[in-house]
Amino acid sequence: MHRPVHVIIGAVAALFFASSTYMIPLCAIMGAIGGYMPDFDLRFKHRKTLHNIFSLIIGSIVLYILLGLVPIDMLHRYIWQLVLSFSIGWLLHIFCDGFTKRGVYLFWPFSNKSYGPKLFRSNSFASLALGFGIAFGLLLSWLIYSGYIEIILDIIRG
Ligand SMILES: [Zn+2]
Repeated sequence: MHRPVHVIIGAVAALFFASSTYMIPLCAIMGAIGGYMPDFDLRFKHRKTLHNIFSLIIGSIVLYILLGLVPIDMLHRYIWQLVLSFSIGWLLHIFCDGFTKRGVYLFWPFSNKSYGPKLFRSNSFASLALGFGIAFGLLLSWLIYSGYIEIILDIIRG
């Protein structure tokens, strides 16, 4: 799947972890970064090294430790929102790549089996459509969940 789509999906999914208005951009950024992360394995055992649950867990723990080291109080107070935003971006990237022909090596390095429905080619229109469908569905769900949909509807109604 196209990398910008993973980034968008990560950013939107992370909105669910934002506890307040000013956490929205921070969570979205962490989700976008998480959504980008797995494809850092492009040049090294692609779809394996970073497209598995172990690298996701280790990556999230490393982020938790790194954020803990930054001497900014706010980061510590909201550390779970930020880490979970990052993790959901990474997780959804793995999930979405499962729909592409190659699948994902979910339990690598302990298993060399690739998983997923494996429906489309990675750069196909169907893959892009699915990605944007997921992103739009998540955004709409979050707007309803957060109550922002009411504000938007009020603006539309005038
Ligand atoms: Zn990928």
